[in-house]
Amino acid sequence: MKSRRSFLKGSLAAALVPMPALAQSQPRVVLVGGGFAGATCARELKRLMPDARVMMIETNATFTACPFSNGVVTGLRALRAQQFNYEALGSLGVSLVYLSASKVDPQARTVTVADGTALPYDRLVLAPGVDFRWGSPARYDEAASARMPHAWKAGEQTLLLRRQLEAMEDGGLVAISAPPNPMRCPTGVYERASLIAFYLKARKPRSKVIILDAKDSFPKQRLFQAAWQQLYPGLLEWVPLSNDGKVVSVEPATNTLVTDFARHAAAVANVVPPQKAGAIAAAAGVADRTGWCPIDPVTFESPLQKNIHVIGDAAISGAMAKSAFAANAQGKACAAAIAQLLAGDTPASGKLINTCYSLVAPDYGISIVGVYHAVGGQYVDVEGAGGTSALEAPRETRAAEANYAAAWFRTITAEVFG
Ligand SMILES: Cc1cc2nc3c(=O)[nH]c(=O)nc-3n(C[C@H](O)[C@H](O)[C@H](O)COP(=O)(O)OP(=O)(O)OC[C@H]3O[C@@H](n4cnc5c(N)ncnc54)[C@H](O)[C@@H]3O)c2cc1C
Repeated sequence: MKSRRSFLKGSLAAALVPMPALAQSQPRVVLVGGGFAGATCARELKRLMPDARVMMIETNATFTACPFSNGVVTGLRALRAQQFNYEALGSLGVSLVYLSASKVDPQARTVTVADGTALPYDRLVLAPGVDFRWGSPARYDEAASARMPHAWKAGEQTLLLRRQLEAMEDGGLVAISAPPNPMRCPTGVYERASLIAFYLKARKPRSKVIILDAKDSFPKQRLFQAAWQQLYPGLLEWVPLSNDGKVVSVEPATNTLVTDFARHAAAVANVVPPQKAGAIAAAAGVADRTGWCPIDPVTFESPLQKNIHVIGDAAISGAMAKSAFAANAQGKACAAAIAQLLAGDTPASGKLINTCYSLVAPDYGISIVGVYHAVGGQYVDVEGAGGTSALEAPRETRAAEANYAAAWFRTITAEVFG
């Protein structure tokens, strides 16, 4: 028999934060996922359409942010600094359901949540982030991640990797397996390796960090490599795909990463597996054969299912990186498009911006900026509008960029969750 506690945890009545009654004729927009994309979109929908019924379904009542979580891994900040709740969103009139969405019926226009309740929508926004392709590399499954953390969804996994680094003896090898694109935060692995090298240099200088990569290049590569040479000579090695970098299987019992021609027995093994859109996207029929979700770049509506929009990491958004900055921008653009569609107007195409900062050391930041517009059904770069930090720059410039990065995180989290 179900205990009262599990009933309360699992029932919609308990999970739904009450909101004032609204007229039945008001449009009903349901969102799945309260990350940077979904929570932004919910807030913006309520701002643009105060009378609309906006409901956000999110598994966890506490959101744990990935940006800056590499600082948690390396002991520079507490996990608490990454955690946010949805109280402010609730007080704006967004109704919050703390359950997982398990099914979508695009014909009936309903989303079913974990307790079996089917919730109706006029427009549905899916913002579930990423899921992992378990079994790739071979034998890397959820059980293996308890020994070889991915730490690519922030929370317990972040703390596990941190504990492993702390427990490692001086002289140990930290091996990171980087997946192919598309992936969440394409520069995050290199930032992580940098901050781990920073930690090792200060605390365990006989140790080494190696990145085994399924790719031959990555964004801001020259900037990272120049900084590595300057800050961490001999401490950090990047092994590209063409130099036998791709990890094909893992051996959790011995913490070993296996490539085509080599075996790397690590003291700490951090495996970032290949990714795809969060599972609800496939369940809703909006993911294509790639595992990701095609979208109309103006409305973010799926070409595969009417009235369902996809934003954030789950969406195929062309040249835009899968980042929190991009997810936030897409959340706003999607909300504006939905408000226009519900008013019977035709949404106009706009430009979106993305900036990704990376820390090579706590006081050494580098960045990349892109501006994007929709061409031929996809986001492409506005030529000449973006760029990266200069390759040659004084340390004060790098320190200033590290400060901009911290200010960006404070600003975006205050805007989305504050
Ligand atoms: C180590 C690391 C560093 C990063 N650094 C940066 C950075 O510096 N700058 C930057 O811009 N980006 C950074 N990112 C990327 C950024 O975290 C993601 O791009 C961003 O979180 C994507 O937002 P999202 O809303 O699409 O997904 P998420 O933020 O992951 O949110 C998805 C939400 O959906 C919920 N969900 C999923 N499925 C369901 C379901 N079925 N039912 C209910 N809820 C569901 C999840 O619980 C989650 O809360 C970093 C990522 C990592 C891993």
